[in-house]
Amino acid sequence: MTVLVTGGAGYIGSIVTEELVNSGNHVVVLDNLSQGHQTAVVPEAVFIKGDLCDQEILHNTLQKYGVDVVMHLAADKSVENSMIEPGKFFWNNVACGINLLDCMVKNGVMSMVFSSSAAVYGQPKEIPITEDAPLDPVNVYGESKLIFERILRWYGEIHGLKSISLRYFNVAGASKRFGSDCRPETNLIPIIIEVALGQRKYLSVFGDDYDTEDGTCIRDYIHVLDIARAHILALNHLDAYTSTKVFNFGSGDGYSVLEVVEEARKVTGATIPIDFCPRRPGDPPKLVASSDLAKKNLGWRLEYPRLEQIIKSAWLWRKEHPTGYDY
Ligand code: UDP
Repeated sequence: MTVLVTGGAGYIGSIVTEELVNSGNHVVVLDNLSQGHQTAVVPEAVFIKGDLCDQEILHNTLQKYGVDVVMHLAADKSVENSMIEPGKFFWNNVACGINLLDCMVKNGVMSMVFSSSAAVYGQPKEIPITEDAPLDPVNVYGESKLIFERILRWYGEIHGLKSISLRYFNVAGASKRFGSDCRPETNLIPIIIEVALGQRKYLSVFGDDYDTEDGTCIRDYIHVLDIARAHILALNHLDAYTSTKVFNFGSGDGYSVLEVVEEARKVTGATIPIDFCPRRPGDPPKLVASSDLAKKNLGWRLEYPRLEQIIKSAWLWRKEHPTGYDY
């Protein structure tokens, strides 16, 4: 199959691209390199530097390479920034996505795997979270992902576009070749790794007064390789459904910020100083997934269930690439 991966030079996109190539697909990566790195794209994939708002590039790419399916990962992803610049998030994550969808429909490319997020749930009342939990985002990032999921439903009903949305929980870790190099890092585990390497003085812990055991937020961390495999399974199941589908992907285990720090201290042997700070706007206290539906319908299984494996892979990659992709 020929797969277009938008955002394929980014953290998750580069590893999805690697897995797609390893499983025998032709891959074309479209990335504007606002966050991604060209060196993170395996040489077997075609790389095109371009923006999702550029109709001409989209049209030419779909035509020239005979794209069968689009994996849409390109997005702004920092919850923190989404609460500062909502317009940028809605523009990039929604408006540019509509541009992509319209181009796909015009060119007869009628399948998409969409990178969505647990942030669509907001502050769920029941844990673990199933796909039918109420959708009520508490930050602009989550809202932008939910809006796009809903748009997909209508493109399905009206144009017959098939789609599967993957609601990721907290993706972390690295493959042997590729890892996280966002500038600046905003996610917990990459920041902790930078502290362990001495590239930052301490970790700011956002809030210690949540209604959790140690007062810090609880998240469900999942290995990026398990997420990458979820994309391959979704790709293989696109034809199984007549309407748009959504699946959660998490490990099913929740860890507080302090528990993640403690595990990282064990893995890295570093002290990892912390500093308690006020809460970050838009942070729900606890997000833990039920991924039963993906297990049942897609045959998905965790290969890396332990937090230690996730942190260790991130640590090993970053130790080998202390300046990220600048080598
Ligand atoms: N977090 C933190 N300090 C940081 C970055 C994150 O305390 O420098 C916390 C954040 O408040 C949340 C958890 O770590 O409770 C995971 O945050 P991250 O940004 O990695 O992912 P999110 O859950 O927001 O998608």
